[in-house]
Amino acid sequence: FADAAMYHGKHAGRNNFQFYAREFTARSLERMDKELALRKALKNGELEVYYQPQIDLQTGLLIGAEALLRWRRPGLGLIEPDDFIRIAEESGLIVEIGEWVLSVACGAVARWNARRSRPLKIAVNLSPRQFVRNELVDAVARILADTGCKPAWLDLEITENLLLEDSERTVSMLAALDAMGASISIDDFGTGYSALSYLHRFPVSRIKIDRTFVDGIDGQAEKSELVKAMLSIAAALNLGSVAEGVETAQQAAYLKQRGCRAAQGYLFGRPMPLADFENFLNKQTASPAS
Ligand code: C2E
Ligand code: MG
Ligand code: MG
Ligand code: MG
Repeated sequence: FADAAMYHGKHAGRNNFQFYAREFTARSLERMDKELALRKALKNGELEVYYQPQIDLQTGLLIGAEALLRWRRPGLGLIEPDDFIRIAEESGLIVEIGEWVLSVACGAVARWNARRSRPLKIAVNLSPRQFVRNELVDAVARILADTGCKPAWLDLEITENLLLEDSERTVSMLAALDAMGASISIDDFGTGYSALSYLHRFPVSRIKIDRTFVDGIDGQAEKSELVKAMLSIAAALNLGSVAEGVETAQQAAYLKQRGCRAAQGYLFGRPMPLADFENFLNKQTASPAS
């Protein structure tokens, strides 16, 4: 921004420079403000974890949930991650927030599974920033021990962009998490820039087909073909598959017929607060057929 301001300043005259400088300052103040507020939010308990059901498409049974972060900001209502995750990542706060999400989510699944014969899995999103330091592996081990969550109940969602760099550290951290017994999913599959070869080189268990492909199933021929191709890749490499953003019965039927294992989306349930998800769970247990 500073460079852009200088550039415009030189080429478009002094008034413009002042304009851009002012704009820049206002924006950076806003960021600092949000970062500070976010730091306080974590301390003051304004962050919440929502849970969205994941369904086995072949059997229709609930198999788990994805933990999704929300910020209940006093006076401003419920804020979605798109409005604050970037600031959390750029400031490094995501490391602390991410560990908090892990401990809340692992605690929840451990409680649910204590009363179930078929254990659920909890999926937790990890930011590339959490792979910058080795501590993540120890943090996961400690959180699993503290919450009584079995490693097999934890699914860690990473994006293809994390694998782009292919750093020694990332490789060894993923190997350690896999060895611990947690599984690894590729979130937003098909939207990143990685070469597909990473699917062999990293201990990946499943791919999550991005919503932008799934929403093309009703009507956009190329997108349905891409979904089909992704499902063949998953089958060929013996990977699980989850379709994200499933909103219609037609999408679900298409996916099921082509062997997609699991689905997540408004058709089955929105992300919901803990109490609502637990009601949802109880209803499922009471009438597994519905
Ligand atoms: P994601 O991990 O790909 O999560 C799926 C997003 O799709 C969620 O958005 C979810 O609410 C939305 N979604 C689910 N089903 C449907 C559907 O049927 N239709 C539509 N239109 N949308 C659907 P959300 O909760 O706003 O989260 C956005 C992103 O923020 C997540 O994308 C993830 O990348 C990030 N995020 C959320 N929680 C965390 C977290 O704890 N840590 C990190 N690092 N990132 C997080
Ligand atoms: Mg959203
Ligand atoms: Mg995700
Ligand atoms: Mg996704």
